[in-house]
Amino acid sequence: MNRNINRRDFLKLAGLASLGMIIPPSVQNIGNRLQGEKKNVLIVVFDALTAYNISLYGYGRETMPNLSRLAKRATVFHNHYAGGNFTTPGTATLLTGTLPWTHRAIRLGGMVKKGMENKSIFHVLDDYYRFSYSHNTLVNILFDQFAASINDYIPKQKLFLFGDSLVRNLFKNDEDTATVAWSRAIKQTEGFSYSLFMTGFYQKYRDQKVGGIVKDYPYGLPNMNIDNYYLLDQGIDYFRGSIADLPKPFFGYLHFLPPHSPYRPRAEFAGAFQHDAFKPLEKPDDIFTDQKTPEFLARSRSYYDEFILNVDHEFGRLFEALESSGVLDDTWVVFTSDHGELFERGIWMHSTPTLYQPIIRVPLLIFEPGVTTGRDVYDHTSAVDLLPTLAHLTGHPIPAWAEGAILPPYGDIANPNQQDRIFAVQAKFNEPTYPLAEVSVAHIRDNYKLLYYLGYDEIMEGEYFRLYDIKADPNELNDLAQTKPETAAEMADIIRRKLDQVNEGYSYQ
Ligand SMILES: [Zn+2]
Repeated sequence: MNRNINRRDFLKLAGLASLGMIIPPSVQNIGNRLQGEKKNVLIVVFDALTAYNISLYGYGRETMPNLSRLAKRATVFHNHYAGGNFTTPGTATLLTGTLPWTHRAIRLGGMVKKGMENKSIFHVLDDYYRFSYSHNTLVNILFDQFAASINDYIPKQKLFLFGDSLVRNLFKNDEDTATVAWSRAIKQTEGFSYSLFMTGFYQKYRDQKVGGIVKDYPYGLPNMNIDNYYLLDQGIDYFRGSIADLPKPFFGYLHFLPPHSPYRPRAEFAGAFQHDAFKPLEKPDDIFTDQKTPEFLARSRSYYDEFILNVDHEFGRLFEALESSGVLDDTWVVFTSDHGELFERGIWMHSTPTLYQPIIRVPLLIFEPGVTTGRDVYDHTSAVDLLPTLAHLTGHPIPAWAEGAILPPYGDIANPNQQDRIFAVQAKFNEPTYPLAEVSVAHIRDNYKLLYYLGYDEIMEGEYFRLYDIKADPNELNDLAQTKPETAAEMADIIRRKLDQVNEGYSYQ
């Protein structure tokens, strides 16, 4: 039924919506109720958003006041883990319900392995109207693989500034020159010195088109891949204006780039934490240190926190639109991230072999249709659990290939089979078609976390691990590998057995 709505029809609808010509919410609600039990599902991902820096999870800065307010009506998962430590593996885990050692989208820009192109959440909810959007090219590479099961795969350019190629249209015959000069024009505004290359024409063009916008972004315009500029509020506005009018039931996966670097909040959030009393905990340099100084890390952390404050404002606006349009009454809304971000031990961002808590512990909130009370879940949960949970909640069979469990309170993870379920895996230097031989694995069980490294130059290519009691020592400062050797050995064994299992059938051919 709804599957037959094509992209042009959708854009027409979306266009009407943005002009305010939408069906009134009251009429819409009746329509939804007639659809029966099939509730909509909307997953909202903000890229590289660690739970560590979110006030709701105990951070020392008030980075997400809206999320704290909205959490009172959500199921809040307090110990939730991403599948990987950067976009490709983390997102592929969200979309396929399998860990990186299974889906093998482990390299920067990687894809899921052959045979998994028809194993994703888009396939599970195959009777839904499915749409997807991401600013992030790495996510779009994954969408490309699943595109046959996405009714409306909104191209990333749609929500880039000038994404409809204003510049290209103006300079059809001289595309490259136009694009390069255009980028330079914007960069100059951000403080880069390209004045030698500037012509009066571009200067004038830029001032006409972005002069006003640039003033709203004191650290520069948010961008992706250097020259793709975007505004988060514009992206949020697009879905605020169109979502109530989508065919029902719908499944949407929206993956916005903020607070991923470069950290470029709007003016009202910029500077919010520059001179506060917050003092980040200093941690000793790691074996995988990038030798960033504590001063650099503290400064970067402040910019990141300001970008989170911006994200919080925009998520609040999206939520408000879902509520006022009545969509919220019929929709499961999931708020999460693909991985975290690190500002400690001499390491910045998430391009690292390590899997410390800030890089893998991410937020997860589930808003149940029509429910206005909240609850807290403290069990360890994983990104792999989302797919089986959403399948279960929407009355779809849980596919045999899904590795996770149905999340509490909807399912029971106390089942002993699901005890050893929480892993995060990083193997970005490993060839996906080879056995995993250069790999980091974090395994969480009870109060313990084992950080396991295999095959890196830094550790003389052997095995290396650290054990933390993350309940008593959430900052991972006291390595217990020597004082609790049995626990460390037992958990290392679980990881070795898992690696043997997932390497089966792979060879160096
Ligand atoms: Zn990411």
